[in-house]
Amino acid sequence: MAATEAGEVIEGCRLPVLRRNQDNEDEWPLAEILSVKDISGKKLFYVHYIDFNKRLDEWVTHDRLDLKKIQFPKKEAKTPTKNGLSGSRPSSPEREVKRKVDIVSTVSLVPASLDTAQASVFPQNGSARRPLAVAAAQPGRKRKSSCLGTDEDSQDSSDGIPSAPRMTGSLVSDRSHDDIITRMKNIECIELGRHRLKPWYFSPYPQELTALPVLYLCEFCLKYVKSLKCLQRHLTKCNLRHPPGNEIYRKGTISFFEIDGRKNKTYSQNLCLLAKCFLDHKTLYYDTDPFLFYVMTEYDSKGFHIVGYFSKEKESTEDYNVACILTLPPYQRRGYGKLLIEFSYELSKVEGKTGTPEKPLSDLGLLSYRSYWSQTILEILMSLKSENGERPQITINEISEITSVKKEDVISTLQYLNLINYYKGQYILTLSEDIVEGHERAMLKRILRIDSKCMHFTPKDWSKRGKW
Ligand SMILES: [Zn+2]
Repeated sequence: MAATEAGEVIEGCRLPVLRRNQDNEDEWPLAEILSVKDISGKKLFYVHYIDFNKRLDEWVTHDRLDLKKIQFPKKEAKTPTKNGLSGSRPSSPEREVKRKVDIVSTVSLVPASLDTAQASVFPQNGSARRPLAVAAAQPGRKRKSSCLGTDEDSQDSSDGIPSAPRMTGSLVSDRSHDDIITRMKNIECIELGRHRLKPWYFSPYPQELTALPVLYLCEFCLKYVKSLKCLQRHLTKCNLRHPPGNEIYRKGTISFFEIDGRKNKTYSQNLCLLAKCFLDHKTLYYDTDPFLFYVMTEYDSKGFHIVGYFSKEKESTEDYNVACILTLPPYQRRGYGKLLIEFSYELSKVEGKTGTPEKPLSDLGLLSYRSYWSQTILEILMSLKSENGERPQITINEISEITSVKKEDVISTLQYLNLINYYKGQYILTLSEDIVEGHERAMLKRILRIDSKCMHFTPKDWSKRGKW
């Protein structure tokens, strides 16, 4: 390919781009060019693979572009601004539930009508979706030292003027320019304790830090610095060996810390900055005050290492018990995500409420929740004993009360599992052999569990506190 040809590739072009898939095979999915940069005469192209999750976006060299099939952007609407949502590939169901039923047992669903319940499964028009929960520190603040805040206050915005929403998130109505920036991941690599993390998405760290090959974070206070030297200097002064706040759970090496977004603003903001690298579906806010953060850690002789977290509004009018939830990549696919979810419902149980995660869920989030809800509900259904040869009975409300899973989520899970059947004038839940075996296999693998006896948590009534 001649250099002149590569020169024609501009932002907004679409063309097939070579990538290696999970099975290590080459494929040529259609991709959109989001940005072009020139590094000492060599062009690099930032591509988004259409219909793939944004986390796979990357810089590629020109030899991976199939210029024969290039589509140029239309003149008037240069690039369809899709608010960064274009990347979400519809998540495939966790597993196809087989229709063939070898019925093992059935449970009567009382009352015989689902009508009232079903009416609320898909709320018309939904409640106002408050997009929120990733709060972010003010980017681009002037730092006092070359280490970007060796003084402990420089990453603290609590001393400043009331923080205003950052105008480069999805709050902006004219997003023609900002959209491109926030659609591109801007941090190459983050060193956090013994892990090196490759961010998936944009995060509003100060711009001057985005050019670094590695951004260094103190794994305990989550302060960010520009070099290993700065980190080492920080570590001599930072005496945190666990997240701030109260340790409200400990079993074995797993602990949970509750952090008040108002009392520990710096930590909360730094946590949100880190989390934003791996969460794409929420708007950025400065304001961490209305949130509590529950950080899960794993302990070793060096300290309590962050594994993941979820945030939660102090007061939710919509029964949200989770705002944002994330397991850090080195800990993913090992059962920690479900442990976070389980913990969020344990908190709701202590509060005597049912709860639901804030929508929309990310693709990975939805998979984890589906799986958690399925296992939790099946666990209950399979524990029901029949009396006098009668089919055991349970109501949706009872399932919801026992699990603290909101009624709508119970119903959608029963429907997703395809358990609900109508039989002789009443609804019954049919547990097939496939379902039962699948569940038992899954539960054998679910070793990490929350032990409610290890919780030291008293819920606060935030509505009575006036100001946070
Ligand atoms: Zn620190």
